[in-house]
Amino acid sequence: MCCWFSIIKRKMKRTKIVVTLGPASSSAEVIEEMIKAGADVCRINFSHGTYEDVLQQIKNIRDSNKKLGTHTAILADLQGPKLRIGSVENNGVELTAGSEILITTTECIGTAERVYITYPQFPKDVKAGEIILIDDGKILLTVIETNGKDEVKATVSHGGILSSKKGVNLPNTKISLPCLTEKDLKDLDFALTQKVDWIGLSFVRSASDIIELKHIIQKFDHDVRTKVVAKIEKPEAVFDIDAIIKETDALMVARGDLGVEVPMQEVPVIQKMLVRKCLEASKPVIIATQMMESMITNISPSRAEVNDVANSVMDGADAVMLSAETSVGKHPAKVVEAMTKIIERVEQESNIYNRDNAAPELNLHNERFISDSICYTAAKMAQRTKAAAIITMTHSGYTAFKLSSHRPKAAIYVFTDNYSILTTLSLVWGVQGFYYDKNISTDHTIADIKFILKKTGFIKSNDLIINIASVPLSEKGKSNMVKLSAVE
Ligand code: PEP
Repeated sequence: MCCWFSIIKRKMKRTKIVVTLGPASSSAEVIEEMIKAGADVCRINFSHGTYEDVLQQIKNIRDSNKKLGTHTAILADLQGPKLRIGSVENNGVELTAGSEILITTTECIGTAERVYITYPQFPKDVKAGEIILIDDGKILLTVIETNGKDEVKATVSHGGILSSKKGVNLPNTKISLPCLTEKDLKDLDFALTQKVDWIGLSFVRSASDIIELKHIIQKFDHDVRTKVVAKIEKPEAVFDIDAIIKETDALMVARGDLGVEVPMQEVPVIQKMLVRKCLEASKPVIIATQMMESMITNISPSRAEVNDVANSVMDGADAVMLSAETSVGKHPAKVVEAMTKIIERVEQESNIYNRDNAAPELNLHNERFISDSICYTAAKMAQRTKAAAIITMTHSGYTAFKLSSHRPKAAIYVFTDNYSILTTLSLVWGVQGFYYDKNISTDHTIADIKFILKKTGFIKSNDLIINIASVPLSEKGKSNMVKLSAVE
């Protein structure tokens, strides 16, 4: 049954917001408040929490969607081969610059002289002279020697208080751990069983990591095509970026770990390069971490944070992400509200629209050539005629991804009979999805959808609108027609 009448009209910002759930934001009330304030995707971080917690979070998101008529997506973020130090005495020991420390793969309670690392191959993989960064680079060790078996001797180059379970980054070491750990495989199975929309893969090193994950997803026995976000936080991933973008469905610029793994001054340059490449490839890109960090406690962001969010929108990001700000912060809904205000202001500027993406290369052997040309033409036509909306049916979501990458000023209204596509598309810039399952004829569908959009106030009399469709309608997923018309 078509359920257009359940649509709530939130403010129509184009850039999406990803919020991370955590103790401060997992209740039904807070999730609802965040969605009303502009959240489009809820990220569930599998580094923390139990399956019981996750089940409750998923239920709360889906209940909120039902109540509000929204299509908030779920992004399940797998921890990947995150390296950590074990527990330490009194949850804090002081490491003094110039002292020596043993790092062992045998579990123990850590002291200033000896600490455990959760990485069994560490003594085999590491070499003398390599750097060990702990707690986002706050502590820096340099390897003196390894016994190649179970112990590594290091000197403390920059000291500080080492507390339990802090993350470890090895920017110079070739890590032999698989991208999907045993924990990730279990979490992945759980997330796919729950039919989440997106899986985030942490510490991607090469395109083969994405191929492996997609292979597992394809083998999984259900009808939901969960899509993949490759988290870019390792230098190896930056080197293999073209192949990764080709394989993945979306990208995240995971600036937290990336800024530890590569020199910090490289991050802005990498961020801009990744956004540009993703736009060219029609793959959504999320900018993540420390965007509104000061709002973990404060009620307004710093001026630099406002600029960071605004610049990401200007660069062309599909989505901006909140991590600790919503997961453990004091004002989860207020942060989303503030982010929405920044986005809405930047989106009044005309230079963020109509990216000059190259026209699809003439190639009749490319099965997407016709659809790609239709999307390109619709975006150009919308620019020339100042059309109010581009409207399309989609079965796989492909047309919506493609259309969005041209960043038309016209609204993008996407109708589909596949509910999971609707939620998946909540990550994609500018796309506003509607459930629609009538399947009579192309003429009927175009007229019916126009009626629905006018009745619900999304379009009005005298607006020019552009329809993209498959003719005949049974040619699902192969857009081959563009129609320009005025709303009566
Ligand atoms: C990051 O490192 O920026 C990031 C998003 O990763 P995490 O999952 O650790 O928040």
